[in-house]
Amino acid sequence: MSRRTALILMVAALVVALAAPLALRLMPRSPQTHVINFTAQRYGYTPARITVNQGDKVVLKPTSKDVTHGFLLDGYDVDAILKQQGVTYLKYLWTDDQGKAHTDWDKVKLIEFTADKAGKFTYRCTQTCGNLHPFMVGELIVQDNTPYHFAVSLSLWIVFGLLLWTGVGGWRPPSSKRIDLLSRFSWFKRLVKARSFQFWLLLINLVIFYLFILSALWGSPVGNRNIAIIFVWIFWWTALKAVMLPLGGRVWCLMCPLPAPAEWLVRMRLTSVRYLKEPLRRLHHRFLGLNLDWPKRLANGWLQNTLFLVLISFGIILITRPVATAILFLFILAATLVLSLIYRGRTFCRFLCPVGGFLGTYSMAACSELRPVDTEVCKKHRDKCCLVGGEGGWACPWGRYTGGLKRNNYCGLCTECIKSCPKDNVSIFLRPFGSDLRLKGYDEAFNVLIMLMVAFVFSVTMLGPWLWIKQAANVTESRHLVPFLLYVGSVLSLAMIVFPGLLFGASWLGRRWSGIDVSFKETTLRLTYVFIPLGIFAWIAFSLPQVMINYNYVLAVLSDPLGLGWNLLGTAYLPFDPLWPRSIPYIQGVLLLSGLYLGLRRGLAALGPAAPTPAASLKAMLPTALLTLLVVNVFLRLYMA
Ligand code: SF4
Ligand code: SF4
Repeated sequence: MSRRTALILMVAALVVALAAPLALRLMPRSPQTHVINFTAQRYGYTPARITVNQGDKVVLKPTSKDVTHGFLLDGYDVDAILKQQGVTYLKYLWTDDQGKAHTDWDKVKLIEFTADKAGKFTYRCTQTCGNLHPFMVGELIVQDNTPYHFAVSLSLWIVFGLLLWTGVGGWRPPSSKRIDLLSRFSWFKRLVKARSFQFWLLLINLVIFYLFILSALWGSPVGNRNIAIIFVWIFWWTALKAVMLPLGGRVWCLMCPLPAPAEWLVRMRLTSVRYLKEPLRRLHHRFLGLNLDWPKRLANGWLQNTLFLVLISFGIILITRPVATAILFLFILAATLVLSLIYRGRTFCRFLCPVGGFLGTYSMAACSELRPVDTEVCKKHRDKCCLVGGEGGWACPWGRYTGGLKRNNYCGLCTECIKSCPKDNVSIFLRPFGSDLRLKGYDEAFNVLIMLMVAFVFSVTMLGPWLWIKQAANVTESRHLVPFLLYVGSVLSLAMIVFPGLLFGASWLGRRWSGIDVSFKETTLRLTYVFIPLGIFAWIAFSLPQVMINYNYVLAVLSDPLGLGWNLLGTAYLPFDPLWPRSIPYIQGVLLLSGLYLGLRRGLAALGPAAPTPAASLKAMLPTALLTLLVVNVFLRLYMA
């Protein structure tokens, strides 16, 4: 098939993809009235999902089973407070004689509205009702859910179009264009070359971090009123996933305050370098402690994967209980201190930090990299100061030889090699998204698969309306061990057996069908790359709504950071008022479709030379592309339907 025919087919398929959801709207429907007994209880509603047709009337008979709850319906002007025994207050708007608008509460028995807008709408609790209050939601689905149907048909079209274009050999080789930021911006170069550059970033974050620990231990025990919870798990987490990682890769490692005290202690310096003329066990520095090397058999990502899975098993507890967050931080702080006194370099960051694992694999797709300017200069430079230390900078704390850096995975962007390199041969470059294409082992591949599955599990547990799942995960409050163990078992099976099994099956099929001449492991590692861009976008789709929904809690805790009843900024008692909640399913849909496109596009590039012809590339990728389509549609259903 020629490229021209392929293009015509793609345009025809796009027309069908856009027309099909519109055609569904033509089906005749007669409006009905739905009278529903509606119950709120910690931390969910019954029914959790209400499905009606556009134009239907909805009449809710609300009550609360336990404490006072709220009912705020996105996209509709319905805001109510639900109390026990059916006592309900409905917010209404009235205008005085001067034309000024006021709101007030009316005591009612029923909540009535006409479902005149199609799509998915979330109803949320507005009254702080307990630990999981921010996740107390239900869903109103108004058919025909055209936005969701559009997203599904566009996902099919993206996969069809990408594979068709691959089959006709339409893709150009990936661009290797780089922009050298340090040579372009001299102020930036001066900044990162300064010995105190990292120190100040660490110090500022360390001060904030200690304030968070104080607040977590002695501030409000209610998660959404505690600055540690709001800033770490909503603000920082979203900034990490949506901004820092895609743009700066591991840039968070540059400023993470947790390992800083240990590093300062073993270096016995805050900013300057202790340089020894004669190397001591290969390095030109003397560090406090035993200075051992990390055991070789543990020098991989499996410990990080395991610790991450342990942490996310208690994820909902961790992100809603300030004291649990404080304990985690203090434990990490202690671990970094102990490990630094035993082993050289950033062993905790490199081999144990649960966040470090996914920062490594996801940073492969980042739009920036730290690399040597000219590898030939490195080859000729005998001293290799970046690796062993120089007068201007410490030996790489991550044990990297900058001259050989080809991926972002294990460079913590500490900028020491920029300072230690006497040839001025290290820089930071801007590059296309998804440039490091090679995963090197199953530990990295499993990290990618685990991360995607955790995004799914968190979306179901925290953003979904299912009370029983929240209760199972929330074991310290529900006190039911068996459902919790079943929950953890399901999460682990999904992340370690079911999804990897599906990918391995797809890889086996693709390899056999295409007849490509690389090992099964190599094929699988290359195909796994698809789930890095997709994973990043799925995490952004999960995280961004948290900020949009809870931003006023951010303003509230800023006004009262220690939960002492202060109102420093006058924002401590802002009413719950989500930011553009109606747009959230649309934003999530666009993010997932972007992740699908970029995942497959970069995945095809990762397959690269392993599949030498367009037909081989198409056949090798097809089963994985269908698996990716399935994954994206599971997320789309979760977020949009
Ligand atoms: S010190 Fe500079 S020139 Fe020498 S090997 Fe390292 S990066 Fe290359
Ligand atoms: S390669 Fe350079 S920037 Fe990266 S961790 Fe090592 S010394 Fe720091």
